[in-house]
Amino acid sequence: MKIQTFQKIRVTILTLSFILFPVTLNYLSPVVSMMGAMAGIVTGSVMVFCGQFVIAMFLGRSFCSWLCPGGALGDQVSQARKKRLPVRRVAWIKYAVWIPWLGMLLYFFRRAGGVQALRFGYGTQGGLSVTGAPALVAYTLVVLTFFLMSLIVGRRAGCHILCWMAPFMILGRKLGLALRMPSLRLVTRPESCVSCGRCTSACPMSLDVQTLVQAGRITDNNCILCGRCIDTCKRNTITWGWRS
Ligand code: SF4
Ligand code: SF4
Ligand code: SF4
Repeated sequence: MKIQTFQKIRVTILTLSFILFPVTLNYLSPVVSMMGAMAGIVTGSVMVFCGQFVIAMFLGRSFCSWLCPGGALGDQVSQARKKRLPVRRVAWIKYAVWIPWLGMLLYFFRRAGGVQALRFGYGTQGGLSVTGAPALVAYTLVVLTFFLMSLIVGRRAGCHILCWMAPFMILGRKLGLALRMPSLRLVTRPESCVSCGRCTSACPMSLDVQTLVQAGRITDNNCILCGRCIDTCKRNTITWGWRS
């Protein structure tokens, strides 16, 4: 498949995921997870987070580049606002939110006497998430936050700073790499790199791809395996690989 066709399919699916966000909001919600945990219920969102952890062992953060509504929004805003982010300086912030949230989630399950039930559609009506005023307010707040962060702070800022799902995938990816599981990755040929910097400019996650390529391996936690760097490099220095 031509790389441009690949990117068109990816962006189309990603856009579709954003259109469907009023349906899927609760299946990705940290708040709904918490509400379920108080009653000892494993909600659809908790199941999705666990799925992200497991899938990331094999496919890294592909969810972020193919399926996430927040990623779709971030990418669209980045078309107008291309500012890159100092990734290393801001990435820790999401853990400062995620660790207490996870601690509270586990505490609520414990207080409820453990897991009482599994309910994928918990908090939805007929499978739909945004069905009333409170859900509409939550939806608007999430969309506005991700929109404004990308607009004001830079490319996919919400992904780097705020996202409660990213740590699940980062940890899954790390575990997969530590266990040497075969997984999707970027493979580089540093000797063919001419240091043009095009890959770095194209990366939606603000990674210094050129430096990573020259180091010989792109396994950065923030890489979402979107393939934009592959698409951009005229020297075919970066390709897909399935390796352990
Ligand atoms: S980091 Fe979070 S918000 Fe960004 S694309 Fe991934 S899952 Fe979505
Ligand atoms: S686009 Fe290709 S040649 Fe240019 S810096 Fe990146 S890897 Fe090297
Ligand atoms: S390094 Fe390449 S594949 Fe990874 S996020 Fe950046 S552009 Fe996408």
